[in-house]
Amino acid sequence: MGSGMTMITKPHDRSALEQEQFLKILSREDAIARFEAALFPRAISSEMRRLADALGAALAEDVTAPIDVPPFDRSNVDGFAVRSADLAAAGEVSPVRLVLNNETIHCGTAPTLQVAAGTATPIATGGPLPRGADAVVMVEHTQPAGSDAIDVRRAVSPGQFVSYAGSDIARGEALLRTGTIIGSREIGMLAACGIAGVTVARKPRVAVISTGDELVQPGEALAPAEIYDTNGAIVAAAIDENGGEAVFLGAIPDDEAKLEAAMRSALADADMLVLSGGTSKGAGDLSHRIINRLGAPGIIAHGVALKPGKPLCLAVCDGKPVVILPGFPTSAMFTFHDMIVPVLRRMAGLPPRSDAKVSATVPVRIASELGRTEFVMVSLVEGNNGLIAYPSGKGSGAITSFAQADGFLRIDALADQMPAGTDAEVTLFTPHVRVPDLVIVGSHCTGLDLVTAQLAHAGLSVRSIAVGSLGGLAAAKRGECDLAPIHLFDDKSETYNTPYLVDGLELVPGWRRMQGIVFRKGDKRFEGLGATEAVAAALADPACIMVNRNQGAGTRILIDRLLGEARPEGYWNQPRSHNAVAAAVAQHRADWGMTIAPVAHAANLGFIPFAEEHYDFALVTARKQRPAVQAFLDALGSDEARTALERAGFRPA
Ligand code: AMP
Ligand code: MG
Repeated sequence: MGSGMTMITKPHDRSALEQEQFLKILSREDAIARFEAALFPRAISSEMRRLADALGAALAEDVTAPIDVPPFDRSNVDGFAVRSADLAAAGEVSPVRLVLNNETIHCGTAPTLQVAAGTATPIATGGPLPRGADAVVMVEHTQPAGSDAIDVRRAVSPGQFVSYAGSDIARGEALLRTGTIIGSREIGMLAACGIAGVTVARKPRVAVISTGDELVQPGEALAPAEIYDTNGAIVAAAIDENGGEAVFLGAIPDDEAKLEAAMRSALADADMLVLSGGTSKGAGDLSHRIINRLGAPGIIAHGVALKPGKPLCLAVCDGKPVVILPGFPTSAMFTFHDMIVPVLRRMAGLPPRSDAKVSATVPVRIASELGRTEFVMVSLVEGNNGLIAYPSGKGSGAITSFAQADGFLRIDALADQMPAGTDAEVTLFTPHVRVPDLVIVGSHCTGLDLVTAQLAHAGLSVRSIAVGSLGGLAAAKRGECDLAPIHLFDDKSETYNTPYLVDGLELVPGWRRMQGIVFRKGDKRFEGLGATEAVAAALADPACIMVNRNQGAGTRILIDRLLGEARPEGYWNQPRSHNAVAAAVAQHRADWGMTIAPVAHAANLGFIPFAEEHYDFALVTARKQRPAVQAFLDALGSDEARTALERAGFRPA
């Protein structure tokens, strides 16, 4: 926890509101303790696996070495098996002559003749040492003396170039312990001992069901108001990643009878059941009601003081865990990793996951809800004094906030914020931090991907964090990024971007984007008009609804210029992206808005050009010489990028 965190000793009492929705909100720790108490201890079921099928499985019992490895004293080199005492006086000027015995020991040849005093036996690497010999001389250290003798000019110590029986693995030695995950190295040890199969923990079969009338499986067409089932795929994959065997049973509509039938048949042949969605106890939320009919003791926790993830429901039905994850994919994943993975791994006979942690500075204040342990996903970038953890601002409905983050930090239930500058502990999603080669923080534009594609293809990693022009500028001033893409109009000078630069930043011209009015093709109110006339026509029609943009967006400045004092219907609908504006118009939630030409054309909307906007880059001068920055500047100026930008509807500067 950060040192400067505000601690509040008396949390607000908001239980009245929560009790309406949830029976009893448990703390994260209480919920985990009760869930585990209802499930453990339990026997881990095991099965025999052939070595070839054992990769990734967890050993269910200790393995003891049944033989010595190597099984006999073995030569490590090509040479001659000798008695070291014979060579005690050997030297450069006093060679010792040894008579060769009449056999050669190859790999796989058992010796038949004893090495008597004054003799030697030719031996290959891996050959068993014959009786009488106690060392090996390398062939390079001998000279032939006729066809049946050698001269040796150096002394050898007993045991030279010999691996003794059992020196690698000794018979009876504990080879591998219960819980060890079998990788290629373990398979090698088992094979060396001649073990063909091992007893491993049987992977728990985990049935996965998504719930919701709105869900469609990937690959199928999306009808209005439907979304793709994200949780089914991601939960199944996370189960497999943590030692389970996921059995995905699809998305079931919010229908009590259908859902109950699906849950009963899933539980009948699975060790665990994981559902997602339908936990908020709203009208259509049924799964928690069904659970209490599936077996004792039933629901253990419904509602946990976690953010994201409050609607989590934990149950045990006749010894089997039944979990309902929240519907929002990010909430589902957090609760799954934080509270379900430990249980799954224990059932799978695996040790607890050891997550790597790093410390990083939080550059902005993060507000947090009192009374709930809050997890905040962060992207890591390298700052001037160590790592910086940028919170991902997309919220619990965003799947990208999970996929693009490097890890997460935790804000204590009793803190209402994490102040800017806090030194926080970040739990990583992967074993190592991989800080990106190039960090771009600011306004996002689809054109940016066309330029950075070249860097990605050259093996450079690029992290682009969308925080808007002003946020990017602030990050650049703090030296937290290499480049800040901005499109900020200055009223006074009537120019873009340059007036916003400060010492330490320089402008790299990017490209021009045509901003204009979008409307559905064929809308007679707008066809054939210029931008000013189109807005006048919209204002004249009380039935006409607009879609605005968020405060701080470059596009918003243009809209305000056109609207003046007018506040038409839809003014307060203020989405944060060009695409959201196009979607609102295309789906008839609004009749007009302002977006950039490439987005309007991609959505097949009518477009009235209004103003060409300058999308440029504030470059942090101190970082200009970094190879990735140079690569970006090269890519930006390349014919390839210019052509791609033009094709997409942008005009390179
Ligand atoms: P619910 O808990 O069912 O009310 O769902 C909360 C939110 O999560 C709604 O916006 C759902 O559409 C969404 N959601 C539920 N299940 C899934 C899923 N499997 N994939 C993606 N989103 C989902
Ligand atoms: Mg639902």
